[in-house]
This record gives sequence, structure tokens and C-alpha cells, in this order.
Amino acid sequence: MRDESRDDFLIFGSPLIEEEEIEEVVQSLRCGWIGTGPKVHRLEEMFGEYKGVAHAMALNSCTAALHLSMVVLGISPGDEVIVPAMTFAATANAVIHAGGVPVFVDCLKDTMNIDPEDLEAKITSRTKAAIIVHFAGRPCQMDTIMDICRRRRIKLVEDCAHAIEAEFAGRKTGTFGDIGCFSFYVTKNIITGEGGMAITNNDEYADKIKVMALHGMSKDAWKRFSDDGYKHYQVVYPGFKYNMMDIQAALGIHQLPRVERYWQRREQIWQRYMEAFADLPAFLPAPVPETMKHSFHLFTLLLDIDRLTIDRDGFLEEMTRRKLGVGVHYLALHLHPYYQQAYGCKPGDFPNAEWISHRTVSLPLSPKLTDQEVERVVSHVRDILTFHEM
Ligand SMILES: *Cc1c(COP(=O)(O)O)cnc(C)c1O
Repeated sequence: MRDESRDDFLIFGSPLIEEEEIEEVVQSLRCGWIGTGPKVHRLEEMFGEYKGVAHAMALNSCTAALHLSMVVLGISPGDEVIVPAMTFAATANAVIHAGGVPVFVDCLKDTMNIDPEDLEAKITSRTKAAIIVHFAGRPCQMDTIMDICRRRRIKLVEDCAHAIEAEFAGRKTGTFGDIGCFSFYVTKNIITGEGGMAITNNDEYADKIKVMALHGMSKDAWKRFSDDGYKHYQVVYPGFKYNMMDIQAALGIHQLPRVERYWQRREQIWQRYMEAFADLPAFLPAPVPETMKHSFHLFTLLLDIDRLTIDRDGFLEEMTRRKLGVGVHYLALHLHPYYQQAYGCKPGDFPNAEWISHRTVSLPLSPKLTDQEVERVVSHVRDILTFHEM
């Protein structure tokens, strides 16, 4: 009989949660301040310092950060915003919720990052901004992209959901564009459960993001209840409910100081996979140039399905049957029904993103993994792919 217990199921992207943050959350619960308060402000200060920026605004998700970026950059109905086809839905949905039109761009086959040439080719007189994604944690070609945005006078937002630690030519991701957006979702490199951060050096954008993240009220709610007397708030915009809670920040303030230690463990696992899978019928992630720091968020193996007797979905099933969690990042956006119906895109429109969509598998990669677990992944992946090699 098949063992149905999931005890030994290796969960994909399982976060490493340590004793300090457990105690910090408990402390928040005991003191009763669970909403937006001192811990959120501490996390904002810490993250701003980590990135070397003037403003860091904690939010309840990266999706919220992306949406507010669109709003404060003034994206309005009919405005076009460039978005990679190879990304998570939230990147494009943020544009749509602001009333804009996402204009999809293909990616490069080797780095999976947005193709700068296709980006420039898609700019029209209606293009107001571009959102780029540092895919899997690998920085985009920022010198070329910054040059295009300056010359063509469009705004730039960086979706850094995969790229907390990444650097391009010694400069940190999220500090190139007008606004950088980060995610602390459970599978990301630093976690707060749900959570995100918007960073900028622009005072006006920062002020607007703060107001719009909390109902459009002109004063932080927590200051209203401080000791220096009651203060009325004023609603200056029909804002959103995007604030982070202290319970969430309680996790972040202990996770962030470990960002480098976690990153080193990720790199170790990454290197182990690179060496272990070199001879398999699969394409490995492109080498990381010396001038870049990769966040090693996702290890994406591209199955060489022309040399295999199973397809990608068959491989996913086989891995799951062996109790190994896997992910797919991503089925490109032009392959999803909504974007096809709303924007008329269809299979064939973005050949590189589509090629990746049919071959990509993300393997477990987390500082929580033991050497033994990494070897379990290695031996099963090798077993499946050598068995099915043509
Ligand atoms: C995870 C992710 C998001 C959304 O982050 P949330 O914090 O879950 O809203 C956006 N873009 C990309 C590329 C992501 O991977």
C-alpha cells in the first residue's frame, strides 16, 4: 500500500523560521500591539539602510507595492506599461488595476530576463513606464535598460520579488528605477508570511505611497493614538488597505539580519545542483557574470524535452510522487486565458518565454534544506532524467 503520509514530503520553498522571530511574534501578541506599529517602522529603517535608499515603505505584499507604484507614477486609463511575458501575474495585474494596459515583451532564452531590444521596440507614444523583473534573482541588464528609459523618457519600476540580495555592477537591485518593489511572501528569500516593501529616493513618491497605503489618510493611524493628544486624520485620496502589521514585521526584523547567511547557503545548494546536473538532458541556469550578484531565489532546470521520453508535466508528477516539491516559474502570461481575451495575445507571440514555459522546473532551494535533503533531490532528478533519456 502506498504511504499517504506527507511527513517526509519535501515542501518547495519552505521558509527557515528561527526561535528569535517566534519569540518576537509572541511578544507582539502579549503586548497587544499587533497592527502597524514600532516593529513595522523598525523593519522599514533596516531595509532602507540595507538598500541605501531614502525611503522604504512596508506594505502587506509586493503586489500592493507594484500597484501603488503604478498609481503614484500617474498611470491612468489608456497608458501603456511594458511588462515581461515571463513573470508572475501580479506584475501585469498591478498595471491593469491602475487602469493601464500591460504591453508584453519577450525574455532572453538564457537569462530569462526581459529582452532590452524587444522592450525598446514596444515603446509607443502612449508608453509611460516599464516594470522589469530580476528573474529568479538574476539582475537584468541594467545599464542598457536605464539608457533606454532615459532616452525614451519612461518611468521604471523594478519588481524585485526574486531579488532582495541581487546587485548589478555593485549597485543594489531596486535602486535603479523610480521605485523598487520587494516581496516577503513565504517562499521568498526573506519572509514575513505575507509582506512587501516599496523603496525610492523620491520624496514625493514616498509620501504618496504612505498615504495611499492606508486609506488615503494624511496621518499614520498609530500616531493618532499616541500621547500627544488626539489628532484628526484627513482623507486626501480614496486609498487602499495595504499596510503591514507588527506581527509580520516581527518576523522580518530577525530575518533581514540573516540575509547574507541565508544567501550563502542558497549559493552552496545552487552550486551543488549545477555540478550534479551538468551531464543530464537539461539546460542549466546561465553562468553568473563576475559583475553581478545573483539572489539565487529559484533554481530553474530547463528540461531538454526533445531528448526525453517524458514532458515537463510528466517530470513534475514523477517528482511529486517521490515526495519532492517542485514549482513552475512560470507559464508565460500570454498563455493564460485572461490576457488572451483582454489583450488578444496568443501562443507564438513570445517564442522565448513560451519555450521556457514548456520546459522549466524549479527545484527546492531554501536555507532550510539539509545536505541530506539536497542529495535526495539530486539523486531523484538524476534518476528520473537518466531513465527517460532517449
Ligand atoms: C511573488 C511575486 C510577486 C508578488 O509578491 P507578493 O508579495 O506575493 O504580492 C510579484 N512578482 C513576482 C515576480 C513574484 O515572484
